[in-house]
Amino acid sequence: MKKILLIATGGTIASKKSENGLCPQIDAEEILAYVPKIREFCEPSAIQICNLDSTNMEPRHWKLMVETVQAHYEEYDGFVIAHGTDTMAYTAAALSYLIQNSAKPVVITGAQKSIDLEITDAKTNLLDSFLYAADDASQGVQIVFGGKVIAGTRAKKIRSKSYNAFESIDYPYLATVQDMRILRYIPMLPYKEPVRFFKNMNEKIFLVKLVPGISPKALGFLFAEYDCIIVESFGVGGIPASIADEFYRLYQEFPNTVVIMATQVAHEGSDMTVYEVGNRIKRECGILESYDMTLEAVVAKAMWMLGDGNAENIGPKEVFYRRVNYDIIFEPGREG
Ligand code: ASP
Repeated sequence: MKKILLIATGGTIASKKSENGLCPQIDAEEILAYVPKIREFCEPSAIQICNLDSTNMEPRHWKLMVETVQAHYEEYDGFVIAHGTDTMAYTAAALSYLIQNSAKPVVITGAQKSIDLEITDAKTNLLDSFLYAADDASQGVQIVFGGKVIAGTRAKKIRSKSYNAFESIDYPYLATVQDMRILRYIPMLPYKEPVRFFKNMNEKIFLVKLVPGISPKALGFLFAEYDCIIVESFGVGGIPASIADEFYRLYQEFPNTVVIMATQVAHEGSDMTVYEVGNRIKRECGILESYDMTLEAVVAKAMWMLGDGNAENIGPKEVFYRRVNYDIIFEPGREG
């Protein structure tokens, strides 16, 4: 039987009521004990690395997850990470960049209701995740949640309460899991390269969400303090007139600050070349853009590419547009 390691980190799945509301209290062994059926098809073990509401997840916790997977990589055939849903999409994206080419699956899951409740999605999600992690055809980093298997770079939490909390953005589900059966939609091609672990993220990344009439006041501070500014723009992407002059000025003053244009629109991504408001600034400042990558993937990829992801020193643009775990379909050849 396959040996699968449960790495528990907290989240609703592990939560119980406290005086001040739900907080994680159920440990890894207890979580596993709620779903005895798992032992019918694999040999599970459990380890607790933190017990956090995922609101409190930080890059150092991602590093801990990577170190845990790496430390136990030879011993186990697959990994299931139990995690809060609120920042699960960020963690799944981060682990997609930090653990690459893993022939052993890393499955991230959680629940909208605690595992100790009678009516809960936690038991099904955990069972599905172990089933997927123990399957011969599984590999890489993904979320298994609500019967869907989503590539680690493509997930977004789109519902705050329903069981059907996650969607795969602009990419098909890799598979579905129902009644103990996996139905695959995307064939898993074996990785050509060996597994690679990265540890360090650059956390000096700031996300600016545009609103109509946004003032340029904070921009000077952001350019001075951060290595990368992600602009969550409107539509296919552009810089509004209210901040454009200051933006150009700061771009000259801080040429090493990486600027990435993303979009507030949930589907279909950016294309700055379409409108004057985006085209000119892209041409003149060489801004990077998200294209079809999710915001969560862009944030994690920026942290990685300005951290260990740029070990070969090939430059952010090369690293940013390189496809990792299905994150981008756009062909970099089209980039001007
Ligand atoms: N606040 C919780 C968390 O992200 C929500 C959940 O797990 O569903 O940890």
